[in-house]
Amino acid sequence: MKELKESRYNYRLPYDDQVLFFNGMTRRFIPVPRSLQEIVDLFLADPNKASQESPRFLEKLQSTGLLIDKSINELELIRERHQQARNVASYQLILTLDEPFVHSKHAKISLMEPHSNMSERVKHSIKKHLERYVIEHPLTQLRLEWLGVDLHQPLQNEIKEISEHAASVCQTNNIDFQVGITTHELPLQEQDVALLRRLPLRSIRLILDLSTRKKRNLTEKEVVSAYITHTKQLVSLFPDVLFILLIHSNLNSFNFQSFIQLMNEQFPEPERKNISIFVHDELPAFRHDDAPMRETMLQQLYQSGYNKQWENLLPMICSEEKQHAYAMNSEGSVGKCVANFSHAALGYVTTHGNVFWDETTIRMDGDIPHFENVRCLSCKHLPLCMGQCIPIKRVTEGNVIAASSDCLLPPWGISPESAILNYCSAKMEHYVNGDDSEF
Ligand code: SF4
Repeated sequence: MKELKESRYNYRLPYDDQVLFFNGMTRRFIPVPRSLQEIVDLFLADPNKASQESPRFLEKLQSTGLLIDKSINELELIRERHQQARNVASYQLILTLDEPFVHSKHAKISLMEPHSNMSERVKHSIKKHLERYVIEHPLTQLRLEWLGVDLHQPLQNEIKEISEHAASVCQTNNIDFQVGITTHELPLQEQDVALLRRLPLRSIRLILDLSTRKKRNLTEKEVVSAYITHTKQLVSLFPDVLFILLIHSNLNSFNFQSFIQLMNEQFPEPERKNISIFVHDELPAFRHDDAPMRETMLQQLYQSGYNKQWENLLPMICSEEKQHAYAMNSEGSVGKCVANFSHAALGYVTTHGNVFWDETTIRMDGDIPHFENVRCLSCKHLPLCMGQCIPIKRVTEGNVIAASSDCLLPPWGISPESAILNYCSAKMEHYVNGDDSEF
C-alpha cells in the first residue's frame, strides 16, 4: 500500500447530527454520523488501520482528498493552481463608462455621476486593442464587462459599436465571446432590448444603492419596489441570463425580510436559480460583528432558491492577478482592476491598440500570488480563499502585510466555515440520492 497522510486542508464541521469531513483542495466531503467521528479520525491518523478494517472506506477517504499520498506537497499544488488560473485563456476586459471603482474599504462597486462620452479616438483605440490582443495571445474566450450608471446613450453608441466589433473579431478568430453589464437600471427601449438580444449577454449585475435614497427624497420601500419591478422585467426579457443583485445598504437598517418577501412574490422558484443576491454594508464591508447577520441572510436566500450557483461563486483568484484581465475607462486609461482607478491608472490604450504602461507605478511582482505571505501560507483556508480575503491588504510600501485577526470569505463576508457549510448543504441532496449514498 502507498504511504498516505492526512491532508492539511481537512475540516470537521458539525452539521445536524452529523460531522462533515470536508477537504478544501477537492471541495469534496463525507457526512459521517457523529457516533462514527472517532473512527474516521482514527483512520485519518492511521491509514494502515483503515486499509485493514475498511478498504472501501479508505478508497473514499482518498477520492475525497482527505487522505493523500505522503509525497504530495499541497502547497506546490496550490501554486500550480494559481498559475493555471492566472494564465487561463480567457481575456476579461472591464470597460467603465463612468468613474466606477470598488472602494477598497467597502468592497462594493460604486457608480458615480456619468462621465463624459467616450471619444472617437478612445473607441477606435479599444477596437484596435481587441483586434491586436486576440491575435497576439492564445485565447479561447473574450469577456467584455460594461459598467455605467446611465446606459441610455452608451447602449446605442459605445456599447453597441465596441461589442459588435468584438463579436466580429471573435468570430473571425474562432473565439467564444460573452458580454456582462453592471448598472443601476437598464434602459428598455425597443432598440436596446434588440441590441442586448443580439449580443451574447451572460450576466447582468444590478446595483440597488439605498445609501443615496434620502438625497432623492424616496422611502426605502419605494426604491426597493421599483428595483424589484425592473428586475422582474429584465428576467422576463432575458430568462437565460445570470442576474447578480448587489444591494448597498446599512445592514442594520435594511428591511431584509420585506425585501425577500417581495422578491419571492415576484419570482417563482424556477426563475430564482439564475438570481444571486449580495448585501453589502455601507460601513467597512466584512466587519466581523455583522458576519452572523450576513450568514443568516445568506441562508435565507439560499433556502428560498437564490444563490444556488455556489460552484461558480466560490472565490478563485482576483482578476488583478490574472494575466488576461484589464479595466479601461472612457478616457482610455488602463488598470489591472477597477479598484485601482481611484488611485492611479497604470497605463493607457494607444491608437495602435497596445497598452502603454507607466513603469514608475506598475508593480513588478505581478505574477507573485497574493497569498505568498507567512500568514496565508500557513492558513488552512488557503485552497478556498487563495489569499483573497478583504481584510488582508498588501501594503505596497515595505511589502508589509496588514491583516485583521480573522478573515472572512469574499464575496459574502462570512467565515470560510460557514461558506463551506452552505456549499455542502447545497450538495447534500446529491449525497442522499446520488452515487455517494453509502455515506
Ligand atoms: S486571506 Fe485570510 S483566510 Fe485567506 S488564505 Fe490568507 S489568511 Fe487565510
